[in-house]
Amino acid sequence: MKCQGCSSELVVSNIEGIKVLTCHECGGILIHYGELKKIAHPTIGDVDYSSVENMDESRHSKLACPSCGTAGMLDINFVSYSDIAMNYCKECKAIWLEKNTLEQINREIDKINHDKENWEHALSIFLSKLPF
Ligand SMILES: [Zn+2]
Ligand SMILES: [Zn+2]
Repeated sequence: MKCQGCSSELVVSNIEGIKVLTCHECGGILIHYGELKKIAHPTIGDVDYSSVENMDESRHSKLACPSCGTAGMLDINFVSYSDIAMNYCKECKAIWLEKNTLEQINREIDKINHDKENWEHALSIFLSKLPF
């Protein structure tokens, strides 16, 4: 299976115990729907689902799917609202991450987790001030 970014042969790698295909030339990572939450930092919610549920099916990229060869993978964004771009194949549910995308995703997840802790902390202070 060849990388659609640079045409190198994809090789099997192991990320967080999950077998994925990666490109050693350009750093791309090929996973499938459901695997993003396994290789990225843990958080509440389903990051795979959140990323594809609101996808705009008119946003075709130039990439063909490395997995099934379908032309024009869809441009999607991690958890829909972030500016982290990924590519998704509707046919075989492959997700293509470019170099450093996983690091960006992990940073975003850390931010989400941190914001949630702050929010819970603020809520607990608010509740402790209530007269009961
Ligand atoms: Zn490549
Ligand atoms: Zn595909």
